[in-house]
Amino acid sequence: MDLSKRQQQIIAIVKESGPITGEQIAERLNLTRATLRPDLAILTMVGFLDARPRVGYFYTGKTGSEIITEKLMKYKVETFQSMPIVVKEDDSAYDAISAMFLSDVGTLFAVDQDNNLVGVVSRKDLLRASIGNQVLQDIPVHIIMTRMPNVAVCYPDELLVEAANRLIDKQIDSLPVIERSNEAGAKVVGRITKTTITKAFVELARNELM
Ligand code: ADP
Repeated sequence: MDLSKRQQQIIAIVKESGPITGEQIAERLNLTRATLRPDLAILTMVGFLDARPRVGYFYTGKTGSEIITEKLMKYKVETFQSMPIVVKEDDSAYDAISAMFLSDVGTLFAVDQDNNLVGVVSRKDLLRASIGNQVLQDIPVHIIMTRMPNVAVCYPDELLVEAANRLIDKQIDSLPVIERSNEAGAKVVGRITKTTITKAFVELARNELM
């Protein structure tokens, strides 16, 4: 992030004389406390400065990239996940295509009668089924899906960057988020897609500029 001249001056003053109050910084710069308030708010929010009540501002010593990394390491899967769109494994490929259009997603998660994750159906799986000489109403999802244990998943408490890495590693568009549990069977609670990661990326940039 590009700091304004005034923001750089503030950092220099706090580095040299911190902890220092907003009032004192304003005096040094021949400005009013009110004029300085937005700059102090930005520098504190972004992480260059820290503020303690009744003590004042002090310099955190962090660089811009350290601050971004620190923020990224706080991004958890559960904060960013979206609703999973599921189909039953016995539903037909035709139903799966309808569900994809209706829900505007590219990947569906297949579940069994107990709602446990059993597989993943992507656009390509459905295209492959479509170019065969079969009736789509007669092909059940479980025939064309990628099935457990070959499904890559992620967990709500994992870091978003770990899920992103898995998407790249496996060359896929989407990961089901499943509950951590000791019971047999995996309950799907969310979905992480390349779009999720794009949104998080933009949010990181936006926060940084704020
Ligand atoms: P698309 O078919 O839209 O290109 P993907 O690249 O995600 O979507 O899917 C490619 C293949 O990877 C498909 O056969 C699909 O079943 C499989 N696949 C998709 N997601 C996963 C996942 N989370 N784990 C394992 N395989 C997956």
